[in-house]
Amino acid sequence: MRNLATLNETKTTRFTRLKSTISDYIEKKDKIITGIEDEKRIEAQKKKIIKRLGATEKEWNDYRWQLTHRFCNIDDFADITGVSQKEIERIKEVGKLYRYAISPYYLSLIDPEDLNCPIRKQALPSAEELDPSGELDPMDEEGWTPVPNVTRRYPDRLIIKVTNMCAMYCRFCQRRRLIGETDCHTGWDKIANAIEYVKANKEIRDVLITGGDPFMLSDSMIEKILISLREIKHVEIIRFGTRTPVTLPQRITDDLVNILKKYHPIYVNTHFNSPKEITKESKEACEKLADAGIPLGNQMVLLNGVNNDPYIVRKLNQNLLKIRVKPYYIFHPKAVKGTSHFWARIEEGIEIMESLRGRTSGMAIPTYIVNGPGGLGKTPILPNYLMYIGDNRAVFRNWEGKIFEIPNK
Ligand SMILES: *Cc1c(COP(=O)(O)O)cnc(C)c1O
Repeated sequence: MRNLATLNETKTTRFTRLKSTISDYIEKKDKIITGIEDEKRIEAQKKKIIKRLGATEKEWNDYRWQLTHRFCNIDDFADITGVSQKEIERIKEVGKLYRYAISPYYLSLIDPEDLNCPIRKQALPSAEELDPSGELDPMDEEGWTPVPNVTRRYPDRLIIKVTNMCAMYCRFCQRRRLIGETDCHTGWDKIANAIEYVKANKEIRDVLITGGDPFMLSDSMIEKILISLREIKHVEIIRFGTRTPVTLPQRITDDLVNILKKYHPIYVNTHFNSPKEITKESKEACEKLADAGIPLGNQMVLLNGVNNDPYIVRKLNQNLLKIRVKPYYIFHPKAVKGTSHFWARIEEGIEIMESLRGRTSGMAIPTYIVNGPGGLGKTPILPNYLMYIGDNRAVFRNWEGKIFEIPNK
């Protein structure tokens, strides 16, 4: 083997060099605060909100109370989040076009002192949503709907949308068009019909329950769906796509987890976008699911101003592993109308991927995905490591940029 660039270094030089490849991150990482590290400040916000709503600690910990007390009117919480008078007017205007609702818990994570707070950006309407660029349904979900509430883009798996309701409406939501004015669970007749479709198509081995947020359904409805799906022999795995561990961790109750674990293999993919979302509560929720034998994945969306920064993503992913969540995907933002201020460049995503490989656990490295418009599906993007491939040899660069070759037989 030729070109072994590190051949002549001493061990001391080698380990000094390794250390230096992450010294930039070591310097930055303590300034990127997780929700756990920010616990005192969040606790103070929580106290203010509890007082405002005249609630008790017990009520706060009850997801039903959280849901019925979602904040939907800026006048009720502007002072708590440090929103200016001018912004209040704008939020009211934008709110007429795109609804907002924020669980008291998620609201407590907003830092009123920080205008660029990543939680605020995800939850509070902004005037930038009025930008007309983008499309309502860029992935053409309607065109890939064999029966109502089912999207099927792949041969062996599909998604069933069981509600349009969420604990918090993300400002960058790809399904904004379905959020509408009111919360609406999919009727049982439609869900049963979707399950019939799965039954009739034997190649479907993986069913993904999503929405909205499927954990907005009652425990009994979730169990009803699981019972019906488990009656189908060819359904191997069932997945839930839910943001509740992040936006409403109180929803992950012992009762819910005891239901889910009866129908294994069950997987849960959740959606953390910021280290600030990793709190004591979200950690508990994830640990509860993991303790029930449910593997957890994270589907981050690359968002301008929230996480389009290699250090933030490294901190996020390392801290997700600590709460037993495996980073699964980073989605490039889709061209959804009303979300253009969140769009990022592909180079930013590639730079993030480049900054992870080699510099942190492979477990902390998700796949970066661009969704093909019109429904062409998930398409991975990687920094280029293969530099040349010929009849007899292939040339690569490693994570540090060192060149090597291997025979190609
Ligand atoms: C994302 C998605 C899936 C799941 O894709 P995986 O790569 O298996 O996680 C399935 N169906 C549809 C329609 C999807 O959008």
